Amino acid sequence: MSKPRVVILGAGFAGLSAAKAIGHDADVTVIDRHNYQTFLPLLYQVATASLAADHVAYPIRGALRKTGAKFRMGSPISIDHKNKTVKLDSSEVIPFDHLVVAMGSATADFGVKGVSEHALGMKNIHEALQIRSELMRRFEDLCRFEDDTRLSVVMVGGGPTGVEMSGALAELVRGPLQSDNFNAAKHIDIYLVEAGPRLLPMFDEDLSERTKKDLESLGVKVLLNTQVKEVAHRKINFADGTSLPSELTVWAAGVKGVDELTLLNLPLAGNRIKTDPTLQVSHYPHIWAIGDNAAVIGKDGRPLPMVAPAALQQGRFLASQLQRLAKGAALKDFKYTDKGSMATIGRHKAVVQVKKFKLRGPIAWFAWLFLHVLYLLGGRNRIATIADWTWNYFTFDKGNRHIMDSL
Ligand SMILES: Cc1cc2nc3c(=O)[nH]c(=O)nc-3n(C[C@H](O)[C@H](O)[C@H](O)COP(=O)(O)OP(=O)(O)OC[C@H]3O[C@@H](n4cnc5c(N)ncnc54)[C@H](O)[C@@H]3O)c2cc1C
Repeated sequence: MSKPRVVILGAGFAGLSAAKAIGHDADVTVIDRHNYQTFLPLLYQVATASLAADHVAYPIRGALRKTGAKFRMGSPISIDHKNKTVKLDSSEVIPFDHLVVAMGSATADFGVKGVSEHALGMKNIHEALQIRSELMRRFEDLCRFEDDTRLSVVMVGGGPTGVEMSGALAELVRGPLQSDNFNAAKHIDIYLVEAGPRLLPMFDEDLSERTKKDLESLGVKVLLNTQVKEVAHRKINFADGTSLPSELTVWAAGVKGVDELTLLNLPLAGNRIKTDPTLQVSHYPHIWAIGDNAAVIGKDGRPLPMVAPAALQQGRFLASQLQRLAKGAALKDFKYTDKGSMATIGRHKAVVQVKKFKLRGPIAWFAWLFLHVLYLLGGRNRIATIADWTWNYFTFDKGNRHIMDSL
């Protein structure tokens, strides 16, 4: 009997975990617009000069080597539902018996004016390097002035990305940049702006409060209950009529499914794909959605969070669903196991919460370091990351402060 042809769109956490779990049981083709997988949880460390960009990227062909899966670099432009084929931007047409959509997410601006023109997102390596370059370029500008000119850097969004980014930026400024040019570094202001009443709303209130205090102790100015109305040139305007100078604005306030989802003619729920508990796209039994793209409803009646553990679990679950189909067994519903949340704020500062169990301070920080190295793909990346972190820890330096986007 010939193996079913499974085409997976996207080689992120969900797509790669599905491809690996399906293994040789199917004829698998993985499609991605990049030839590498990005470890998104450490992207902010690339943006703040702690890690080199290639430590958080892993070649997809290397990840698939032992699975028998094929790889095509490209992006889908349409699905032919009748003939069960997907067309790529290279014009290649790939037939499938099962299509898996796992293309992850993009920055959502929620209709706020000026975000795409005047703010930088942080959803891929390119954007992280852009933030690093912009920051270091502005710092070099500041070094030229020996007056009271100030540089204001604003992170919008008090979720884990905004918190981690602000803390790492504060440590970059207080450490290496002060050593490079004390006066210039003293003139950098870091703001974290959040529309809601507290940071990290997925954690209990005491951990949110602890996070705010930790950030403030690093010199970050935290503005809560502050809604951005418009990001303008070098300025942010707030809904209450006030404004803040911002030479560099990082938008970490929202995620949505990648824009290309709309090309696929699949039912959408908000900006994700309407997905049944079996992970099949509603009304399309041969098309599956996993990871950030899948709007699967959780126990609380809301779509599951867009986090790496959900993507990894769904990838593996999808493989087991295909095995059930092959055996003629009934499909099961996906059940998400919430493994808790963690966020790091700075050296020896982090928060961890697993249901009612909580950690903070150095123990939480070491737990965060350990888990992130564990989930990073590839021995080379793990060793390189540990080497960078060890160097940073003992020298208080961050060696990746290069501006590499211009001649
Ligand atoms: C900055 C940042 C920090 C995060 N930190 C954490 C964290 O600490 N903990 C946590 O649990 N979660 C974190 N997340 C969320 C987590 O990374 C996502 O939930 C997870 O990556 C989702 O997996 P996925 O496979 O659905 O998508 P992704 O891992 O994003 O993979 C999607 C893949 O699809 C590819 N792709 C996209 N568009 C196309 C296209 N048009 N054509 C072809 N290929 C395409 C991409 O190149 C990518 O390889 C973070 C996310 C970001 C952006």
